[in-house]
Amino acid sequence: MDDLREQVELLERSANLATTIGGVQTAIDQLVAARADMAAAMTRPDPPHTAPRALAQLQDAVTKTLDAAQKDLKPIYSGLTKYGKVLDRKFKDKPLPSADNDALSSHPSLINRAIAMHLLREGQFAVASTFIHEASRRPPHPAPTPTTPNPNVGESWEKDLAEGTFNSEKLQAQFADMYHILHQLRHERNLDPAIQWAKQRSHVLETRGSNLEFELARLQFVRLFVGQDQDAMDDCPRGPLHAYRYAVQEFAGFQKRYAREVQELMGAMAYWENAQDSPYRHILYNDCAWEEVAHSFNREFCSLLGLSADSPLFIAATAGAIALPTLLKMQSIMKEKRTEWTTQNELPVEIPLPHPYHFHSIFVCPVSKEQSTDLNPPMMMPCGHVIAQESLDKLSKGARFKCPYCPNESHPRDARKVVL
Ligand SMILES: [Zn+2]
Repeated sequence: MDDLREQVELLERSANLATTIGGVQTAIDQLVAARADMAAAMTRPDPPHTAPRALAQLQDAVTKTLDAAQKDLKPIYSGLTKYGKVLDRKFKDKPLPSADNDALSSHPSLINRAIAMHLLREGQFAVASTFIHEASRRPPHPAPTPTTPNPNVGESWEKDLAEGTFNSEKLQAQFADMYHILHQLRHERNLDPAIQWAKQRSHVLETRGSNLEFELARLQFVRLFVGQDQDAMDDCPRGPLHAYRYAVQEFAGFQKRYAREVQELMGAMAYWENAQDSPYRHILYNDCAWEEVAHSFNREFCSLLGLSADSPLFIAATAGAIALPTLLKMQSIMKEKRTEWTTQNELPVEIPLPHPYHFHSIFVCPVSKEQSTDLNPPMMMPCGHVIAQESLDKLSKGARFKCPYCPNESHPRDARKVVL
């Protein structure tokens, strides 16, 4: 990766076309001016014969500019070629693993739906609407796969895109709203639309245990407290006194749940003359606060729509990209050893995914070392030890048996299914 980074940096340093663009613009301006001069001269009753000389002068200047531009472009071309070579060296052309376990071909409508949802969530509304239009005009044909021999559009949520009942307008309006509020937060440092949104949903947010409303109010307080904006309009005055007034007006509702945080903010008031050096500096001058609040808002907005904060398509593609090298390696090993990947519902190797990609707990049977599935769930024996259903069946053969991990004996019918 270092090679790549080095090439990018080199390209950024050498590829500065600002002067070249300036030179080209000057040449264009000269040409335009000359044309205007000549046009004006032609309207006179006795046009002077200066055009050939003016053209000759211009030709010289234009040729020089073009030569300079060519010279400036050279390092960019050579940089691009080098970058391409480094890219090729880094990402060797590897075949993708063969799709013996193709779970997708039987559900093309679902994939289209995931793409459409992804585009909508990313705010690519025009692309999304074209995609939805084209996908419903030419509905895809599900192909049978080993796990789904008779594919058909089954689930209602799979039907909506296939039958054109996918309500993209409503979603689009909702996401447009979200992007508007996010833009105001991130780029305009304006909390008002987000605060208004949260206030309208105060009850739902509180039921969900969300801190968003308080986080917004706290940031508003901080903004008022430290924001000594000279350009501030008279109708939005700032300073500690205004922050205090805001607190008196807004914080009453937060007292119960956020007593400590509210106290902290009130404590900061004592340092109003020198907040920079106060023990409250980390609250009052926190550069990440805006991004954190924007992130919180994004998550809550999506949750209220019943969606995860990140696009599932993005998560699936990223997890797949992380898993691919391991799967490729495993495939080549399996080919050498002439073994096959037999378990459809479980990956044959452990894929170390980053923490945010762990969505639920998994259970691996300590006897068989297999991951539990719906058909082979974890079972807890009366002694408290847990093994997979298949291991339980094998060990007990339907009669009383001894737990493999302690001296207790039990009957398999006393074991209880564990839901993770
Ligand atoms: Zn036991």
